[in-house]
Amino acid sequence: MLDLCIVGGGASAMAAAITAAGENPKMSICVLEKKDSLGKKLAATGNGKCNLSNMACHNASGTLEFFSSIGILTRSDEQGRIYPYSQQARDVVRSLELQIKEHSIQVKTSSPVQEIKPVCDGFSVIFRGGRLNAKNVLLATGGKAAPQFGTSGDGYVMAKKLGHTVTRLAPALTGIETAEDIAELKGVRVKGCAFLQKDGQLLRKETGEIQFTEDSISGICIFNLSRLLRLREGESFAEGMSRFQLSLDFLPEWESVEVIELLKGRCKILGMKTEELLLSIVPKPLALRLLREVGIETGLEAAELTGERIGRLGAYLKGWKLSVKGTRGWKTAQCTAGGIALEEIHLPAMESKLVPGLYFSGEIIDFDGPCGGFNLQNAWETGIRAGKAVAHV
Ligand SMILES: Cc1cc2nc3c(=O)[nH]c(=O)nc-3n(C[C@H](O)[C@H](O)[C@H](O)COP(=O)(O)OP(=O)(O)OC[C@H]3O[C@@H](n4cnc5c(N)ncnc54)[C@H](O)[C@@H]3O)c2cc1C
Repeated sequence: MLDLCIVGGGASAMAAAITAAGENPKMSICVLEKKDSLGKKLAATGNGKCNLSNMACHNASGTLEFFSSIGILTRSDEQGRIYPYSQQARDVVRSLELQIKEHSIQVKTSSPVQEIKPVCDGFSVIFRGGRLNAKNVLLATGGKAAPQFGTSGDGYVMAKKLGHTVTRLAPALTGIETAEDIAELKGVRVKGCAFLQKDGQLLRKETGEIQFTEDSISGICIFNLSRLLRLREGESFAEGMSRFQLSLDFLPEWESVEVIELLKGRCKILGMKTEELLLSIVPKPLALRLLREVGIETGLEAAELTGERIGRLGAYLKGWKLSVKGTRGWKTAQCTAGGIALEEIHLPAMESKLVPGLYFSGEIIDFDGPCGGFNLQNAWETGIRAGKAVAHV
């Protein structure tokens, strides 16, 4: 009978295994990973640079201590984002793997776990090709985002079977699809502000680069807004999404009245044609689209535009409204919103309140953070907490 079986071999699982073994070297631990190697998703994070955490996280210092103890040197950028000094995600994976080996933690890769059954003095863990018994089990299978890295939501099924509640899941940190056809804007990137409204009420404003793709809008500011596209229990997808609206401000430093004055002034410039009115303000495909939205024809003298038309163009520059159709889905999502209900977990130890000896860590729990290292921080922090707790049972 093992002391601890860890289901999943990602960021939080490795942090938990190393912490538990460090705290209690006598523990017998086995990590069961579905993929053929540990930390596949971790190696792809932060565009291969691995944004480990963020200085704004109140527990970042605990994570940094952990990294330092296993020889991962870090540095943070001006936005507080913490990276390995080498900016190489695979160095982080390698450092964790070295520690796993050093602590003689057993690892079985290509071993997807199918079921966890409570038995009289622990659990029986059934995986492809075998079964093992353990006094404690840590479920660290991640979420449903980016299933190409092994995370297809298996852990939720196993947790539900053990009696846990899984809150409604949604792909987060991904692009937002619009009902309007925006294919002509593919490749356009602009700095601006994006506002997300629900039933006409502002939910959140985000500033940054807005990127247009064939059928969606992306960029970090949009990814962060995608976290809020949550549906109520029982609400249909189309009905739920139709309540959201995206509004884009392409001149955030300017007040609406100033934008109108700016446009009026530009109309007076010698030889100014309508299609040049937004030249040097937004990229040409976007300029042409905005002109079309307000019914301004190209090839006309800008001086001939009526005040009403200029007002409408100003309003579109300050708030182009787009209807939300949905998000780009699980494949491109970086995180899962929703998960194991937090009220069913004793958070200081990450132990289930319903099934003693069952622990959770990482993205599987009902937590999601914005871009910037907050999701990996959750993985490390909850993994370290679970590892410490289980080591002293
Ligand atoms: C492209 C991309 C970039 C990202 N960049 C960042 C970033 O820079 N900063 C940041 O903070 N966050 C980032 N994230 C999010 C972050 O990677 C995750 O939140 C984090 O890895 C979650 O850690 P975890 O340990 O809970 O799960 P994971 O790291 O996802 O690991 C879960 C593991 O469980 C395994 N598994 C699943 N089911 C089974 C099963 N049945 N049996 C056995 N094993 C199983 C999976 O194969 C996987 O290896 C990114 C995500 C993606 C997709």
